[in-house]
Amino acid sequence: MTMSLPMCAIDFSNDEMGPEEAAIAQRIAELKEEMGDDLLILGHHYQRDQIVMHADLLGDSFLLSELAAKSDAKNIIFCGVHFMAESADILTSDSQRVILPNMRAGCSMADMAALNEVEIAWDQILQETGLKDPATAKEGDSCLIPVTYMNSAAELKDFCGRHGGIVCTSSNAAGILQWAYDRAGPNGAVLFFPDQHLGRNTGISMGIPLEQMAVWTPGQENDLPSDVKIVLWHGFCSVHKRFTVAQIDSFRQEFPDGVVVVHPECPMEVVQAADANGSTEFIRKFVAQQKPGTNIAVGTEINMVARLDSQHENLNIQCLEPTVCPCSTMYMIHPAYLLDVLERLSEGEIPNQVIVEKSVQKGAKIALERMLSIKK
Ligand code: SF4
Repeated sequence: MTMSLPMCAIDFSNDEMGPEEAAIAQRIAELKEEMGDDLLILGHHYQRDQIVMHADLLGDSFLLSELAAKSDAKNIIFCGVHFMAESADILTSDSQRVILPNMRAGCSMADMAALNEVEIAWDQILQETGLKDPATAKEGDSCLIPVTYMNSAAELKDFCGRHGGIVCTSSNAAGILQWAYDRAGPNGAVLFFPDQHLGRNTGISMGIPLEQMAVWTPGQENDLPSDVKIVLWHGFCSVHKRFTVAQIDSFRQEFPDGVVVVHPECPMEVVQAADANGSTEFIRKFVAQQKPGTNIAVGTEINMVARLDSQHENLNIQCLEPTVCPCSTMYMIHPAYLLDVLERLSEGEIPNQVIVEKSVQKGAKIALERMLSIKK
């Protein structure tokens, strides 16, 4: 599921690196060597190559947090965005520190759901539907189960833990929703946040009709069908919402035998027009299974698509949107920031540590551990 990247994989002769970048890469490698097993560098698939080359492990957000928890490293540098470092902090021991090279690296989707807005929505939905909060429900009650995508702040994971809910990722969302419905009772429903597209696409794959779904936008009038099964928070990923059906049509016109694979954070119409959809790990495996010479359009973040292309010389891989930009917040992890935190660590400082308050950790850990206990 993850790729281990040994130090010997580093190629400082990379033509694309100027002398300044090469010097930064060299110094990072030296500091890594000095710190040995005390240090673990995690790299998300959407990071640029100049970061990935230093990562001990490469993977998606949850796998990296899980691997951080299994490691004994004292200092864990998470080359990803803030919510990922929070999850790693929740799952690691008190003696381990999780460090984010640039504290401004957030996630626009995660920022679309704030705790106070979710709390207001929660009360309104319970009142409007008559459903019960699982934390106080009696046997036989129909309940509203909160489900948060991994891409959310720790305090929302805590909210889910405190209200009988759970966390999901893009690779286990259907299994997690099934878990939620098994607990919600016959007329129960799910409040899914923050990504409406992942929630809708997963609901459709489970056979839930669109008429039983509703989008919830805070501060607006929100109409819920009387038999609502899933209330979708209005959030979205600014990278994945850029993919369109027109792009798929144009790719198919050029390559009638080509295949299209997209991430389930893409809009429903795009997911339905694609040949396959799934998490970053799914996309990696899907691409690896294609016959030599296949033309493949991939609807996900450009750094990952470019890396897939360079890893599979016998395939013709392109990004579905030719002008797509990298995820702007992932891109905030520049090698100079990575070097800066390493220098400061080597001088005995603890820079940019991400700490989730104990009061928030408790519920968040419950919601994360509920997810861990379910296999897909
Ligand atoms: S790709 Fe989208 S969901 Fe992932 S970190 Fe960037 S904005 Fe957030």
